[in-house]
Amino acid sequence: MIDSHSHIYCDAFDEDRDQMIARAREAGVRHIIMPNENLESLNRLKAVRDAYGDYVSLTIGLHPEDVNDGFASVLAKMRAMLDAEPWVAVGEVGIDLYWDKTWRDQQVEALDEQLHWCVEKDIPFILHCRDGLDECLWVLDNFGGPLPRGVFHSFMGTVQDVEAVRRRGDFYFGVNGIVTFKKSAVKEILPVVGLDRLLLETDSPYLAPVPHRGKRNESAFIPHICDFVAAQLGVTPEAVSDTTDRNVTELFKIEL
Ligand SMILES: [Zn+2]
Repeated sequence: MIDSHSHIYCDAFDEDRDQMIARAREAGVRHIIMPNENLESLNRLKAVRDAYGDYVSLTIGLHPEDVNDGFASVLAKMRAMLDAEPWVAVGEVGIDLYWDKTWRDQQVEALDEQLHWCVEKDIPFILHCRDGLDECLWVLDNFGGPLPRGVFHSFMGTVQDVEAVRRRGDFYFGVNGIVTFKKSAVKEILPVVGLDRLLLETDSPYLAPVPHRGKRNESAFIPHICDFVAAQLGVTPEAVSDTTDRNVTELFKIEL
């Protein structure tokens, strides 16, 4: 299995990162993609890459919750780094209006600019969209030119939302521990998305799947998500891991 979205660089793992990575390998996790958040976290991603090499991939981008009135200068600094590393994606970028709508227009502008980096570098986006689907779709609709490929990570929309996204392009959808939560409706989108467009992710250290719900999440928990998805779709866990791994290597163009 590949964990397509895991914040293993964050300080929640500073005490036991080696052991956490060892547990991930033991659980069958072959590779981990690290979504970036801001300028400061880029240094942490690089430090993790220096420690674990090819086991991890790096992305670059400004998280929507880190967008504020200074976003333009942050983006200029990241823009200057686009050629400095073999980034596998621009992420995580997007719209998050859940806690705060203050920087809505700036989030829209930042998303649009960063999606253009994807086109320029021929890499996909990792989209974070929370209470902002209309804004995300608006950016896609007004992009001006062919859209990049990408994944709607931690997708929590309805079947209708999946269809609305698909009218814009043939995108992937990332599913994490939320799908295992009793009251979650994410399982309803699984048959509509289909295995061919599904990515597995933990979004660790957040959103631990059942039976670890409420605890710190880690990449080693991804089999719980895989097994749950397999049961929902009536296929074997191997079918889920094989297909979703292939989806990751195709989308991010990584060879394992
Ligand atoms: Zn994330």
